[in-house]
Amino acid sequence: MMADETTLADLARAVGAARTIAVLTGSGLSAASGVPTFRDAQTGLWAHYRPEELANPEAFERDPTTVWQWYRARRQTLAEIVANDGHRALADLANELPDVRLITQNVDGLHQQAGHSNVIEFHGNIRVNQCHNEGREVEVDDAVDTPPACPHCGGLVRPGVVWFGEAIDPQAIERATQAAQACDVFLSVGTSAEVHPAAGLADLARRNGAHIAEINPDATPLSDRVTWIVRDSAARVLPELRRLSHNQHA
Ligand code: NAD
Repeated sequence: MMADETTLADLARAVGAARTIAVLTGSGLSAASGVPTFRDAQTGLWAHYRPEELANPEAFERDPTTVWQWYRARRQTLAEIVANDGHRALADLANELPDVRLITQNVDGLHQQAGHSNVIEFHGNIRVNQCHNEGREVEVDDAVDTPPACPHCGGLVRPGVVWFGEAIDPQAIERATQAAQACDVFLSVGTSAEVHPAAGLADLARRNGAHIAEINPDATPLSDRVTWIVRDSAARVLPELRRLSHNQHA
């Protein structure tokens, strides 16, 4: 691990020289936009629930209204939120460098809002609705207090996110695995590195010879296995990383 002053410059050199870069983002990246991280989301009415108790299929089947209303509150928060400099810097890096593959655990759609196309959404997208029975995406009025009925089968409609205990889209797994195996540099950004299988991607990259960077104000279970640690907000670090790696190319 490198000392902090030289870390960013050294990381920028590696980013500038890499053939392929994989980036895994978590809710910490969106924190600077005002989206609460998973742990911080539990305020007010929701303070006495743990996110894992609500974000699972059994909870929805037992008490669909409570789970729906939790997501409704999170969607309402998101309606007023915009992408930050960190999301924009990653979108710019993807345009400037030969091969940047972005995997996000975030369900907020802010990478796309920042102009990033081709995002691997590992945990789905909270702005989308899907039928809980059939799994297909549906168009419904979701500004309501109870889960709407699926227009096709009458089943309950739920947010299009992957809950604890549910399978991740095999295509997302495949693309993320390929990105981790192909990359020279893996950036772990704003994630607690605790939710699997996303958390395993950095180790997969490492086993395939990549160097890992962690951008997070706090330590994570990954911290002792990375080459570069940048203990600061991703919204501050990523624009600087982009600037330094850009200067190197110019
Ligand atoms: P997490 O809440 O477990 O961890 C967030 C991490 O971000 C922590 O390690 C924290 O130290 C770090 N962090 C906080 N502020 C930061 C900042 N300014 N810059 C950089 N890092 C910062 O979130 P996770 O690792 O993404 O995984 C948990 C699950 O939460 C995922 O499944 C995800 O789908 C879901 N989630 C998504 C959103 C969203 O879409 N924005 C919000 C909440 C939860």
